[in-house]
Amino acid sequence: MRNDAAAVRAWLEPRADEMAELLARLVAVESENPPGRNLGRCARVLRDAMERLGLGPEIIELAPGGELEEPAVVRGTVGDGGKLLYFHGHFDVVPVQDRKQFTVERRDGKLIGRGTADMKGGIVSMLYGAAAAKELGLLGDGRIVLHLVCDEETGSVAGSGHLREAELIDPRAVAMVTGEPSGAGIWHAARGAVSLRVDIRGREAHVGQAHRGVNAFQHMLHVARPVEAYAAEMATRHTNFPMNGDDAPGTMLVVGGLSGGGSNFNVVPGSVHFTVDGRFNPEEDLDGELKRLTALIDDAAAEIGADVSVEVTQLQPSASTDESHPAAVTLARCVDEVEGARPQFEMCAGILDIRWYAQLGIPAFAYGAGRLDVSHGPEEYVDEAAMRRVAAVYALYAREMLA
Ligand SMILES: [Zn+2]
Repeated sequence: MRNDAAAVRAWLEPRADEMAELLARLVAVESENPPGRNLGRCARVLRDAMERLGLGPEIIELAPGGELEEPAVVRGTVGDGGKLLYFHGHFDVVPVQDRKQFTVERRDGKLIGRGTADMKGGIVSMLYGAAAAKELGLLGDGRIVLHLVCDEETGSVAGSGHLREAELIDPRAVAMVTGEPSGAGIWHAARGAVSLRVDIRGREAHVGQAHRGVNAFQHMLHVARPVEAYAAEMATRHTNFPMNGDDAPGTMLVVGGLSGGGSNFNVVPGSVHFTVDGRFNPEEDLDGELKRLTALIDDAAAEIGADVSVEVTQLQPSASTDESHPAAVTLARCVDEVEGARPQFEMCAGILDIRWYAQLGIPAFAYGAGRLDVSHGPEEYVDEAAMRRVAAVYALYAREMLA
C-alpha cells in the first residue's frame, strides 16, 4: 500500500496547472458573503468542474433567504460502496479589501487572491483528491460524498442547515473532512457561538426639552457594563484543548461590534442598540451561558427601569472529536505519509462546519493547505504545492477509511 502515496502524487503533479486554473476561475466569481452574491454562478462553475472530473455533481437550489443570491449546495458522489466519507467545503468568501483580489496572481509558488486559502483552494484540493481516489481505484468498499455550501461565512444555516434538515447527512458516515485553512495542523474541535442584539428604547425629546425625554444611550451604558464584566470573566476561563500558540485560550466575546442609534446630535436618543458576539470553548455549557448573559442584561435593565429587549441572532454549538478516535489517528497517519511529519491536533479559535456532522456522532475534522493568519486579509494566498499535497492526503484518507 506504500506505493499508493507515490501513485497519488504522480497523478496530481501533472495537473498542477489545471488545479491552479480552476482555482483562478473560482476566485474570479465574486461570491462575497455578506451579502452573498453570485452564489448560483459559483455553484455552476463548480458543477461543471466536477462534471469534468467525474464527480457526479448536482445543484440543490435552496429557498431564498436574506440577501443570499441563488443560494445552493453542490453535492457530488464518487464510488458506490456502502461506506461513506464526507468531503465538505464552502464557496462563499469574506468581502475583499480590494477588487484586485478577485484576480488570482500566480507567483513564487503561491496563488494569491480572495478565497485561495479560505477555502476555494481547499475545494480544489478536495475535488482533485476525490478524483485521484476514483481514478486510482482507492475507493474500496465505499464512496465519497462532496458537499459544497454557499453561506459558511454567515453561519451556514442555509447550506449546512439544509443538509441536516433534509437528512442528507448520514450519521453512519465513517468521517467528515473540510478543507478549511488549518495550516499544518488538524482542527478536531471548534468553538460554539452565541450572538445577541440588544435594543434599548427611551423617548425622544429636543435638547431644549431634554428633561421630557428618556435617554436610551444612558440606559445602554448601564446595561452594557455587566456584559463587559462577563466578557472579562469568560476570557479567563481557558480551554483544555490544544491551540495555536498565537490564540487566546479563553472564551472570547466582543461587546458592541455593532452599536448605534439616535436620530440627531440635538435629540435625546429614543432608541439605541448594541451587539454581543461570543466564541465559547467546547467545555462551556452554551445554553447555560446564554441564560446567564440574558439574565445579566435583564437584571441591569430592571435596576433602572430600562425598556430593553434581547434577540438571539446566532446560537451554534461547539464540536469536538477525540484525537485518539481511530478516524483521527488515521487522518494524522495519512498526513504523515505525505508530509513526512506528524500533524498537531488543535482547536480552531472560531466556529467550523464540522459541528453539523460532529453533532450526529460523525468524527469530523478540518485540514487544509491555507493558513488562517492570512485568510481574511489583503494578502490571502495558498501555497500551490501544499494544495496538491493536501489533495493527496484526502485521496489516501479515502483509501484508508473506505477499505
Ligand atoms: Zn472558511
